[in-house]
Amino acid sequence: MIEDAYPLAALQAGMLYHSELEPDSPTFHDLMTITLRGEPDVPALTRALAEVSARHPVLRTSFDLTGFSEPLQLVHDTVTIPLEVADLREGAVRETGPGRGGPDGETGHAEDGKGPRERLAAWREREKHTGFDWSSPPLLRVHVHVLDGGEFALSLSFHHALLDGWSVATLVTEILHRYAAPPGYASAPLAPPRARFRDMVAAERSATASAETREFWRERVTDAPESRLPRLPGFPVDGPRDVTVLAVPVPRETVAALERESRELRVPLRTILLTAHLRALGLVTGEREVMTGVLSHSRPENEDGGEVLGLFLNSLPIRVRLDAASRADLVRRVFDAEIAAVPHRSYPLFEIQRAAGRSPLLDTLFDFRDFHVYGGLPGEGAAITGQEFFEQTDMPCTVAFVRVPGGGLTLTISYDRTQFPRDQIEALAGRVLAALTGEPGLGEAETEAITRWNATGRDHPGGTLHELIFAQAALTPDAPAVGFEGTWITYRELAARAVAIAAELRAAGVERDQPVGVYLERSTDLPVALLGILAAGGAYLPLEPGHPAERLRTMLSDAGARVLLTSAALAGQAPQAGRTVLLPAGAPAPTGQEDLNPPDGPGHEDALAYVIFTSGSTGRPKGVGVSHRAIVNRLRWMQADHAITPADRVLHKTPISFDISVWELFWPLVTGAGLVVAKPGGHYEPSYLARLIVSERITTAHFVPSMLDPFLDTPELAPGELRRVVCSGEALPADLVRRFAERLPEVELHNLYGPTETAVEVSTHRCDPAEQVVPIGRPGDNTRLEVLDDRFGRAPVGTRGQLFIGGVQLARGYLGRPGLTAERFVPDPYGPPGSRLYATGDQARWRPDGEIEYLGRLDTQIKIRGMRVELGEIEAALLDQPEVRAAAVVADGERLIGYVVVGGTAGGTTTAPPPVSPETPPETG
Ligand code: AMP
Ligand code: MG
Repeated sequence: MIEDAYPLAALQAGMLYHSELEPDSPTFHDLMTITLRGEPDVPALTRALAEVSARHPVLRTSFDLTGFSEPLQLVHDTVTIPLEVADLREGAVRETGPGRGGPDGETGHAEDGKGPRERLAAWREREKHTGFDWSSPPLLRVHVHVLDGGEFALSLSFHHALLDGWSVATLVTEILHRYAAPPGYASAPLAPPRARFRDMVAAERSATASAETREFWRERVTDAPESRLPRLPGFPVDGPRDVTVLAVPVPRETVAALERESRELRVPLRTILLTAHLRALGLVTGEREVMTGVLSHSRPENEDGGEVLGLFLNSLPIRVRLDAASRADLVRRVFDAEIAAVPHRSYPLFEIQRAAGRSPLLDTLFDFRDFHVYGGLPGEGAAITGQEFFEQTDMPCTVAFVRVPGGGLTLTISYDRTQFPRDQIEALAGRVLAALTGEPGLGEAETEAITRWNATGRDHPGGTLHELIFAQAALTPDAPAVGFEGTWITYRELAARAVAIAAELRAAGVERDQPVGVYLERSTDLPVALLGILAAGGAYLPLEPGHPAERLRTMLSDAGARVLLTSAALAGQAPQAGRTVLLPAGAPAPTGQEDLNPPDGPGHEDALAYVIFTSGSTGRPKGVGVSHRAIVNRLRWMQADHAITPADRVLHKTPISFDISVWELFWPLVTGAGLVVAKPGGHYEPSYLARLIVSERITTAHFVPSMLDPFLDTPELAPGELRRVVCSGEALPADLVRRFAERLPEVELHNLYGPTETAVEVSTHRCDPAEQVVPIGRPGDNTRLEVLDDRFGRAPVGTRGQLFIGGVQLARGYLGRPGLTAERFVPDPYGPPGSRLYATGDQARWRPDGEIEYLGRLDTQIKIRGMRVELGEIEAALLDQPEVRAAAVVADGERLIGYVVVGGTAGGTTTAPPPVSPETPPETG
């Protein structure tokens, strides 16, 4: 007979819903096993179970999810808790029900080769996956397993929707009291506790109806931080949730110190423990403000509140800024946040989540369990020798401090093994423990690992870029150096023509560190001209024909370039400079007697080699000056990694206003390989490139990912002699890597990364079609990468931070912009005095394998087919128009949309003009 019926608590409903979806899942199937000394007394246990069943309504409860207008829990008047007894000892009867007694079942376990404890463990595994029938009470089963050594196991298997942890402890205690009591002796009251679970359901209902409480929680969760633990490569793995526990004892001295602190600050110990959890969370998420769930045990406050059984639980978000002035301040701040939530604690998480519009809202949960378990148990007849509690929830990670007998504390972290590797959770436990007494920070092992990953020192021979090329020319004067449209010049011709140009440039006043504008289309003349400028001691400043004249003029003057080098054909359209030097038309016939000595004499490695302009957020592009030392290191490192030979041919197709072109042009020339120059505009034509790669026997080519994509689609695609493709300039998607491996299986693919503010690229990764995310890899030779938080502290492995770059490949700075240079090239807190780090504005993280993952920008800089664009620069250009009062530019895929407010009066109109393109045609690397 049904004696009571009432709705479900929101948490119960959620749990049952989950179990309905996955009937055999161990999630929310709790299993408590305690080991006791002695022989099991089945009649006494049967009696004890009958008494607790009579006393506690939740043990007589079933669920009806569909039969009424809303799901109900139904309390039945009498319910017998099923009890099964099995002897797991060698040769024993396999299973007997209560009262069945005799050896009428199958006998013998001898063949399975396991001991009783292993059989118990195997049974526990099976039991976790054996579901319950909502409609037949109780949702609880009891099992006794006779073990060896004079012990037996008592297991309570039940659905979590019935009982919270406190209730489990209370129930076990009560059962054992009744079990151990002499027959006829009332060891515990038989009358039900006055507190009832149905009252908690009613309280939740009224909280849900309260506008004030709803508003309280809405405010808390609006724009809440993610506070999501990092997921490392390979995680989550596909498959059913698999929760396990890591337990670490808290040192005794620490517990004593925390208890002292709790008294001094007049806050509960729990608050101090919660504060440590929050600080550890701040460290591993990289957030200044964090949010976690806190398990709230909302037991009734009347005198039977501790005895009533039920699911008196709710998880409440707590959100705290971590930037307190002192540890005590932070603890008080956490306490205040807890106190503020108390009047609203019955509001179910489900509703809070709905208000946040985000599900799941919480990635971590905090709990403090100080259960007075098994209090005053009768020693004889019920001595507990062990216990194991399995509970799996849908929380990815629960950090709990548990009181242990004797007043100690254990830190336990329950985590889903499909989402986190054990190492990560061990590290988290270490950080929580560290936060109990001080600053949580990087462990020694982690610091050591980051140092090791950055141990990139390699002694490369020095020299300037042009010295290296002239040395190569002396070595292989007659080898083909530069090929363009089917015609090749030798290293001798290259060097001789460069020497001649250098002499002219010297005469025009070019000297060390001076940028010389170069205004040329791609052809054989281009590498000749660049080498000529370097040989004269100058630095080249690429100016691309086709770019707006105004922009080119500004670049020349901002860089302080007084000399421009161009061809007779282009001179008419070239920007005006102090002096214009023309390349000689046509090449002189080689004589073999050419002067191969640059007029510069010994070069200086710290002199500027090139200046490349890049978009500036305030509207003014900035010129980045890079030294010979930096770019030579780049080339030496590349050569050390790939060892190209005179048999190799490298494609040059990237417009020279992009730094990628620097290695395309010079890597072959410093190694004796052939440089194949693509025709002007050829970089836009995938099929031309595909044909060129085959016909010119190219072995090495660069693509920005957005150009690699259409390239892989060209019908002409064939590997020819292509051995390696290098990607850089923008994020390389994993599916593109897979497509590449399908179309060009014999060709290596590398993902490189680097801003213009360093010599082209500073990290490298060999791609693997199996990877889910393509990292940007490890630092190159003589380069250091750091992932730092906003106070220049090292972010832990796996945690997002800003990527900083140190080492010899750093640019000297922005030409003529000392303020801007100081802003982005900052003192290196981890390097020798005077060393600098470049702040990239990129977000990144270390992976446990020592490679770095790129995670997007911190600002509004974007990439359009590899071209770096600051939206602020375009906004500034719009604002320059007299009619425009306000402007905003947003990126929409490959389009940029500018919004402007026009008119001189307030309340002007916002219009979306046709998409604004960057001033220059999109780069296609
Ligand atoms: P740039 O100065 O044109 O070389 O642009 C540098 C920026 O491009 C970097 O700061 C990144 O935002 C982006 N970038 C370059 N290489 C990569 C890469 N391999 N993966 C993701 N982003 C990249
Ligand atoms: Mg770059």
